Amino acid sequence: MKRVEILNVPIHAVSQHEAVEALIGFLNQDKLMKVYTPNPEIVMLAQADEGLLNILKDGDLVVPDGIGLIMASKLKGLGLKERVTGVDLTHRLLSYCGNSKKSVFILGGKPDVPEKAAENIENKYNGIKIAGTQHGYFKQEENEEIINSINSSKADVLFVCLGAPRQEIWIDDNKDKLNCRIAIGLGGGVDIYAG
Ligand code: UDP
Repeated sequence: MKRVEILNVPIHAVSQHEAVEALIGFLNQDKLMKVYTPNPEIVMLAQADEGLLNILKDGDLVVPDGIGLIMASKLKGLGLKERVTGVDLTHRLLSYCGNSKKSVFILGGKPDVPEKAAENIENKYNGIKIAGTQHGYFKQEENEEIINSINSSKADVLFVCLGAPRQEIWIDDNKDKLNCRIAIGLGGGVDIYAG
C-alpha cells in the first residue's frame, strides 16, 4: 500500500474500501497488526514528539481520519484518496467479523461505556461476538492483568479507545504481549458506539 508523508507522518493512500480489505487481510495473519487513525491534531503533536512520530511510522495501516489531512494532500498533490475514519472502518469490519465469527474486545471509555457499546454492537451486527470489555481509567499496575484478560478472551480485534496519543502509545508499548490480530486506536469511537 502506498504511503504519503504529511509533515513526516506516513499515511496510507487508501480508499475506505481498500482500508477495510487490508484489515480483513490482517485478520488472517498470525501477528498483531497496528492500526492508527490520525487526525491533523495528532500529526501536529508528532512534530514535537519523536516517540509518537516513530509509533505512527511503525503502524501497519495508518489512515487519514480528518478532512484537514485530505486538504493538505490536495494542496500538495500527494494523492490521499479520501477521509477514512475509525468509525467507517470499524463499521465495515464489524459486519465482516459478524459474518465470519471473529470477536472483538473493547478497551477504553469511562466505566460502563464499553459495556454499553458492546450491547449496541451486538444488537446491530448479526453474529458478532464481543469477547470482553475494559474501561480506560486503569492504573499502570493493572496493565498486566488487562493484557491477560484481553488475551484470554481470544479476541481477534482490539478496539483501543484511550484518546490520542495515549492509545497509540499503549498499543506500541504492549504490541509484543497481545495475542489479537488487529489493535486499532479509535479515540472516542467507544462513545459513538455507546450512543
Ligand atoms: N479515555 C480513556 N482513558 C483515558 C483518557 C480517555 O478511556 O485515560 C477515553 C475517553 O473516555 C473517551 C476516549 O478515550 O471515550 C476518547 O477521549 P478524547 O475524546 O479525550 O480523545 P480524542 O477522541 O480527542 O482522541
